[in-house]
Amino acid sequence: MIKNPIQWPNGAKCACAITFDIDADSLIHISKPTDGHNRLYPISMGKYGPEVAIPRILETFKKLGIKQTFFAPGWVIEQYPQAMESIMEGGHEIAHHGYLHEDPTGHGPDEQRYWFERAIESHQKVLGQKPKGYRAPVYNVNPTVIDLLNEHDFLYESSLMGDDIPYILQSGQKKLVEMPVHWGNDDWPPFAHYPEIGYMMPVSSPSQGLDTFWQEFEAQYANNGFWMSIWHPFLTGRLARWHQVEKWLESTLENNNVWFATLSEIAQHVKKESEKENNLIRVDHLPYYQRPVKLNR
Ligand SMILES: [Zn+2]
Repeated sequence: MIKNPIQWPNGAKCACAITFDIDADSLIHISKPTDGHNRLYPISMGKYGPEVAIPRILETFKKLGIKQTFFAPGWVIEQYPQAMESIMEGGHEIAHHGYLHEDPTGHGPDEQRYWFERAIESHQKVLGQKPKGYRAPVYNVNPTVIDLLNEHDFLYESSLMGDDIPYILQSGQKKLVEMPVHWGNDDWPPFAHYPEIGYMMPVSSPSQGLDTFWQEFEAQYANNGFWMSIWHPFLTGRLARWHQVEKWLESTLENNNVWFATLSEIAQHVKKESEKENNLIRVDHLPYYQRPVKLNR
């Protein structure tokens, strides 16, 4: 069913990544800039991520011996350095997710550059290194961001939905590996309930909500594909949900031929494969359009 499967290392049947976007309380501060700092309930809901869920998640990863990728806004990196240090100590990756979770499409090019580079400074200041990967807040990547990623020599992007498996984003002579997302692997639809930012979703039970992701995995595994979850510590890192995730991970690692790795490792592999002669890895050329498509009469 996948026409151009990628050969994974050591004959693995599926490349897998549990990715977490550690938005913490950046969401309330960016959406309610004048009084977000006084709204204690959403602040506490966000803080649960780095303060309670991250230690729990890291413990599971350590127990199972897997290294994974976390995306964090620059402000969150500065605000929660202890959580960031423990992620780094565990050998995991921390990637770029804006500065205060600002939507790139809400800003002009100069403003976008300012916040994009300010986030890189947070990585350098707190973590001592530049990020290799990027996921746009609310997936809203635009051509200006792609140019910034290329200018700063990023390896991969992870906000687009153009395929089931990784592919190449080419703009001019520059290439990025796209690690594609989609809403079926995102925990916002089943688990987020956040009236302050306009989400009034019915919250699924842990097993119902998570079952969507396991079905996504089964299809990717059957087709030698790529399964990646896009989760948030304050949602899927809550006790009952993580309890089930941990059981699923234990059983999947024991019974399946899977390759769990950081997105950098998987993207590096895809990049290498894409440089081989006669490879089948798809190339998407950007920008998709040069001007607005809707015509005026
Ligand atoms: Zn986010």
